[in-house]
Formats: sequence, structure tokens, C-alpha cells
Amino acid sequence: MSDYPNLLAPLDLGFTTLKNRVLMGSMHTGLEETKDWNRVAEFYAERARGEVGLMVTGGIGPNLEGSVLPGAAMMTTDEDVENHSVVTKRVHDAGGKIAMQILHAGRYAYGPMCVAPSPVKSPISPFPPAELDEDGIQKQINDIVSTAQRAQKAGYDGVEIMGSEGYFLNQFLVTHTNKRTDQWGGSYENRMRLPVEVVKRTREAVGSDFIIIYRLSMIDLIPNGSTFEEVIQLAKAVEEAGATIINTGIGWHEARIPTIATSVPRAAFSWITKKLMGQVNIPIITSNRINTPQVGEDVLATGCADMVSMARPMLADAHFVSKAMNGKADQIAPCIACNQACLDHTFGGKISSCLVNPRACYETELTLPDAATKKTIAIVGAGPAGLSTAIAATERGHAVTIFDKSHEIGGQLNMAKQVPGKEEFWGLVDWYRTMIAELKIETKLGKTILAKDLDGFDEVIIATGVLPRDTDIPGQDGNNVVNYIDVLRHKVAVGKRVAVIGAGGIGFDICEFLAHEGDSPTEHLPAWMKEWGVSDPAEHRGGLAPEGPQPEPSAREITLIQRKAEKHGKRLGKTTGWIHRSALKMKNVNFVGGVNYERIDIDGLHVSFGEARENPTLIEVDTIVMCAGQTPERSLADALIAQGKNCHVIGGADVAAELDAKRAIDQGTRLAATL
Ligand code: NAP
Ligand code: SF4
Repeated sequence: MSDYPNLLAPLDLGFTTLKNRVLMGSMHTGLEETKDWNRVAEFYAERARGEVGLMVTGGIGPNLEGSVLPGAAMMTTDEDVENHSVVTKRVHDAGGKIAMQILHAGRYAYGPMCVAPSPVKSPISPFPPAELDEDGIQKQINDIVSTAQRAQKAGYDGVEIMGSEGYFLNQFLVTHTNKRTDQWGGSYENRMRLPVEVVKRTREAVGSDFIIIYRLSMIDLIPNGSTFEEVIQLAKAVEEAGATIINTGIGWHEARIPTIATSVPRAAFSWITKKLMGQVNIPIITSNRINTPQVGEDVLATGCADMVSMARPMLADAHFVSKAMNGKADQIAPCIACNQACLDHTFGGKISSCLVNPRACYETELTLPDAATKKTIAIVGAGPAGLSTAIAATERGHAVTIFDKSHEIGGQLNMAKQVPGKEEFWGLVDWYRTMIAELKIETKLGKTILAKDLDGFDEVIIATGVLPRDTDIPGQDGNNVVNYIDVLRHKVAVGKRVAVIGAGGIGFDICEFLAHEGDSPTEHLPAWMKEWGVSDPAEHRGGLAPEGPQPEPSAREITLIQRKAEKHGKRLGKTTGWIHRSALKMKNVNFVGGVNYERIDIDGLHVSFGEARENPTLIEVDTIVMCAGQTPERSLADALIAQGKNCHVIGGADVAAELDAKRAIDQGTRLAATL
């Protein structure tokens, strides 16, 4: 019997059957916009080969005004139909099923043509939307319906009508954005008329044997969002209108509550879909922070939904489902919900990929074929750069030995995993350990490697990482000064009043670590909901607790300091920086910028401000924690080069500036592809 009987059970939709209960949720990867349809097809076909039950494409616009931004992919011409046919054929040949998401962005469309129920500008776009008149509304419906017809012509198994996350259809549902007084506004009956009409007319146009998924916002997380009574009313109406499946949306994009970041507990919102179970007779899909087969299985086994949606986990491992089917769940590369290579790329105008799996969306470009000449390869450093190189090189047939002076693999990942809200890093280190064992990669730990130890290997790769930067602040050798490694790895004692020098990713992490005491809210859903002010939408509109966020008080009085005069955390991830900032603000962390570090003494940290070093100030603290960035650890590389030996230097040992695991893993994998 399978370890995941619920997850892997087929789902009979009447006219067609899905082979299991896993939906690959829609992701805006940017692939469709490349117009390289072979590349798009290969991305989806690879996931079809990985046995996922049903996939949904990234959002495809029904017209110019509704597209997420100018130049975004649309389905409006015969040429579009022809292009998408390449994708559907490849997916079907691989035994998969695929639905196309129709995304009308409404006031979230990033362009001057955007339209909405009412002229209410969104806080996340500079473009005020034009209010639609009756003809305009009819045009939007017609465009969505004909987009669905074209999707059907292109060979898709269905469409997903995007009705959540604060996009166009969602904007009609709530008074926050719908101020109309005609038949499309006012009462809830009127406000839900448009989404229901869209589903009804789509069903009429595509006939009965075509999947229509309606993505419904279960909890808006915005003021004046829907109540759960309204959610149920809408669900029943879209079922009646002809939807085949209801998928879940959580939170509008403008919501100030994290919904998918790594600090959000796993399956944090499945209790909401559970409330909808039994209210309709069509399958319900639950979503958000489900990233292992076991979490998916538990969610289904406890009656939270009929199917689970996983999007980013399918970037991390295209073969997620087939590995779960074949007793290899521990070999699934885990999505750590970091957003660093997927959503941060999307919002930065780049093609998505995955921190853990740089081949995601690069399936046609970054390949790992069998090596023509099998080599012996020494890799020094078992951090993310060295480990990813080792795995990719071994998969190509090389004989790899990996060395590290530490007794454990993982490098800096072992520090990240200590930070509350970053528990997913434990799974990533476990996965590397599993893969090293599975691939029988020789590992030599606990010994400092010298240049002479590397004689005889065909290739030598130096991935020795970084060293903390020496800041040269007078008094930095005092007993009251520690660095982030002392705190996270060696668990040295830190006083109640703390100054953190350096407000980069690690400075923020250290503040999180020092502000928390006891269990991490990421591991305890009720505590997390209280911290962020999430409540039951059956009790409070939109699921916002009336008392707002109620975080536990900080365990320490913390000041986070940087020399730059800019906003703290400005350079953190595009989609997660605001979460880190809000989390620390909730803990009353004091952000101080624009300083000069003058000296450290027994009283604390002395700083001044501005070029003229004015306003001398003592920040009275018990402990100062250095998080001032890093420099490459190149001593071994330099020794080899001095002896005239060839080596490849990767990761932090290569360039420490703005190093993160994403760059390290990508560089290592790409190097392995060339050896
Ligand atoms: P970082 O992001 O480069 O930040 C270093 C901080 O130290 C900056 O705030 C800088 O600010 C300060 N600094 C630089 N030189 C200094 C000096 N000589 N004296 C005093 N302060 C100095 O480095 P990091 O925080 O060590 O992080 C390393 C990498 O890991 C980063 O690329 C980061 O993105 C990544 N990381 C990412 C995450 C994440 O959540 N995504 C978490 C942890 C780490 P001023 O120059 O303004 O003082
Ligand atoms: Fe998951 Fe991070 Fe990969 Fe995105 S980049 S898919 S969040 S592991």
C-alpha cells in the first residue's frame, strides 16, 4: 500500500479522471513571454513526466486591458492557439493534463489601460483604473469566454478562471473595490454577478467535457473582505454555473499578511477549505505552504480538501509525485518557500527558476547529460555550492569526493535553519544528506584540507565559503562583542540589550533569532495567526482579527544598525523584505541608519551621524553582534594557484558580495554541467 493513499488516489471528474490529487498550481514564470514554445512545452512536459495529476499554466490575459502588464502573454489570436498547441501536445504525449489559467488583473494590471469595477487605485500599482460601463463589462466577459474557447481549441484539458488574490473578478466581490450602484454592485448578489456570469457563459461556450476550475478567495485578508457566508454563497453559485473544481486563493496581493513565505506555517490555510467541504458537490482544492507528500496526505486525510495545490514545490522538483509514488519521498528536492528564484525573479522581470533546482524553467538550456569522459573530482566545502556541484557532477557519471573541515555538511545552511521562521532549511540539509548517500558520494568531513591532499584528482573545485568581515571598529575585541556565527552556531550568551551591526539578510536573521524565545510561531499555527492578526472569516470579514497583530513581546531590546541612510531591508528579497521588516517592527526592533561606528566600550556602541560625524550617541547595550557581511575564504584556492595548480573557485570563495544560496547552487550546478 502506498504511503500516501489519499494523495495518490485518482479523482473522477465524470468526463475525465485525474491520476492523483496533486495540482501544480499556476505560476507566472515568465516562460510564456519568451515565446520560445519549445522551452515552455519542455517545462510542463517534464512535470507531466513527473506524474502530477493536473497542471495549471501561468496567468494568460484575455485582452490588453486585463493583462498583468504590457507584453504579458495573451490568448487572443489564432497564432496564440497554434503556439499553445505545442505545449498541450507535448504534455499529452507525456501522459499529463493541463489547464490554462485565464487571468484578468483588473486594477492590478500594471499599465495605463487597466479597468476595474470602480476607479479605486490599488496600493501596489501606480495606475488608476478606469471604471467599466455596461458595455465594458460585457466586453470583459466576452473576452474571457473567447479566451477559454481558444484554450480549448489549443488542446488544453480545461481552464482556470482566476477569481482570487484581488484580481478583476475578486474586485467585484467586495465593497473595498466595488462601489457600483448598478446590477454589478451594491448587494452581494449583485457583486458576485460577474464571476458567476463568467463561469456560466464559459461553460455554455466550451460544452460539458472541459474542466473549469474557479479559483475562489477563501480569506481576503484585507479590510472589508468577504465573509465566509459570502464565500459559501459564491462557491454554490459557481458550482451551479458550471465549475468543475473550486481552487483556493489566500489573501489579496495588497494584503499585509504573509501567505506563502517560508515563515508561514505549513498548510496554514487548509482549515479554511475544510469549512467549505460539504457545502458544494464539486471537488475543492486547498493551497499554500504544502510542500511535502506527507503534508499533502495529512491535509486530505483530515478532510480539508479533495485535492492539494502545490506550485513552487514543482519548481524545486519536477518529479515530486513520481518520487512519492515510488517510495522515494526523501529524495524530493524541497521547496523552502524562500521566493528567491521564483517570485522575486518574476517581480524583478526575470524568468523564474528555483534556488534549490536551477534547472527549473531552464530545462532546455541547463542539461546534465552523461559525461563523455568520467573524471575524479575533489570538492572542498560541503555548503550549498559544493553540495550542488557534487550531486550534479555525480549524476553525470563523475566520481566525486567532497571534503569539509566541519563534521557536518550544509555550511551556512546550518546557521539559517536556527532562525525562527526558517525551519525549512532543516529539510534542505536533510535532502542533501539523503542525496549524498543515495548517489554514494564519498564524503570526508572533520579535516582541514591542504593543497597536497588534492593531488591526483582530475578536477579540483574550491567551495570553501566565506569569513565574517573584519569591521575594524575600535573596541571590537571586547568581551561584549560577538559575531553571527558565535550566536547561531556556538550559541554564545547574548544580553538583554543588543546592538546588531549590519542590516543585511544575516542582520535581519539575527534580530529574529534574538527577539524570539520558545517555540517558533512557524511551528505553531494559532501563535502565528495571533502574531499576524489572522482570524476566521466566518467571524470577521476578510479574516482580519479586529485587534490586529498581537505578537509576543521581544525577548530582548534590539537595535539594528547600518551605515547607509536608506530604508532598512531595502535590498532584501522583493517579495519577502516587507515581511522581515514588519516582523521586526512588531518586535519593536529599533532601526538606526546613517551611522558612523566610533568605538565600542563597556557601556555599549558609540556612533555618530553624517559625514561630519555629528551627534555622538551611545547605544547602551550589553552585547554587540557583528553581521557586517563577509569576505571570500580563498586561502586554499590561493595556495593551489600559487603552486600552479588548476582549480575552479565557486560560491562565496569566489565572490562573497551579495552571496546567497541561490547564486551558490546555480554556479555549482552550471559548473558541473561543463565538467
Ligand atoms: P550583506 O547583505 O552584504 O549585509 C552586510 C551588512 O553589513 C550591510 O547592512 C552593510 O551595511 C554592513 N557592512 C558592510 N561592511 C561593513 C563594515 N565594514 N562595517 C560595518 N558594517 C558593514 O551580508 P549578510 O547580511 O552577511 O548576508 C550575506 C548574504 O546572505 C546576503 O547576500 C544575503 O542576501 C544572504 N542572506 C539572505 C537571507 C534571506 O533571507 N534571503 C538571509 C540571510 C542572508 P552598511 O554598509 O550600510 O553598514
Ligand atoms: Fe521554492 Fe525557493 Fe525554489 Fe521558489 S526559489 S520554488 S520558494 S525553493
